[in-house]
This record gives sequence, structure tokens and C-alpha cells, in this order.
Amino acid sequence: MGQRDFKRVPMHFNWPIDRIWKGYLNPVCGPRECECCHGTGLNNGAARTEECKKCGGSGETRMPRKKKKAYRKWKEYDPPVGEGWQLWETCTEGSPQSPVFATPQQLAEWCAKNAFVFANEGATYEQWLRMILTDSADVNSLLVLRSDGYVGSIANAP
Ligand SMILES: [Zn+2]
Repeated sequence: MGQRDFKRVPMHFNWPIDRIWKGYLNPVCGPRECECCHGTGLNNGAARTEECKKCGGSGETRMPRKKKKAYRKWKEYDPPVGEGWQLWETCTEGSPQSPVFATPQQLAEWCAKNAFVFANEGATYEQWLRMILTDSADVNSLLVLRSDGYVGSIANAP
């Protein structure tokens, strides 16, 4: 996974910029590292290394069964899909980085002014547009960016 991603989201999608999408964070706290053995499951006894008694060798603190079940049952889910275009970062679990735009061109324009590919390196409008279109391309609706300026699906290309 790269550090940026382009998503198709509904035009009215208004998850706050920079906040990790709720579908990528498990709302149930997971098991924590056992503080007795620091997650190794082993402790140094007087004579030899033995299974940590506090966590029974699992390296994790015990969780109530119900909670554990809820934690395991939870599944990650993507934001809703729609007509809009939006820049996301994937350095964390994933959060929106731009407003939602109606076209890839508008998003590319915004990115050229406001976003960076690497630490400080910006990209031009054309570079952004190409990245947006290649990332979003799939077999059913392949979008092309041609040298004559045409942007759209191959099926509809003049
Ligand atoms: Zn332990």
C-alpha cells in the first residue's frame, strides 16, 4: 500500500479531513501486551525461562470472552462509493485529505496546489491526473488520459 490513495466517494461524503475513517478502526479495544512478560509469554524464573504465569504464555492480557468475540468479529469496511473523487492518505489506517470533487480533473488541480507526493515534492496537474486515473482504473470502467487531452472511459472514447 502506498502513502496516498484516490477514492470514489459520494459527493456529499463529509467525513472530516485527517480523521481516520471509522471503518478502518476497530471500536473494540484489542488485547494488550502482558505487562508481566512484555508480550513474550515467557518469564525468567529462578532456574530457567518459563511460561509467564500471569498471561499463561499468550503474551496478552486476558479479555472477557464477550469482548474478545466482539473484537474478532469486527471487520474493516470501506467508505461508501459514489460519483465524487477524493485524495486519501494511507500512512495511517487511512483518512481523507481533500474535499470531494466531481471530476478527476478538479481533484488533480487541487492536488497540484495543495498536496505533496513525497515529503516536499509536489507534482504537476498532469502527473496528479495520471496518478488519479491509474489508481482508479479497473476492468469495468477503465479511464484513459490521452495526449490529445481526452479523459474518460475507453468505451466512450471518440
Ligand atoms: Zn505474560
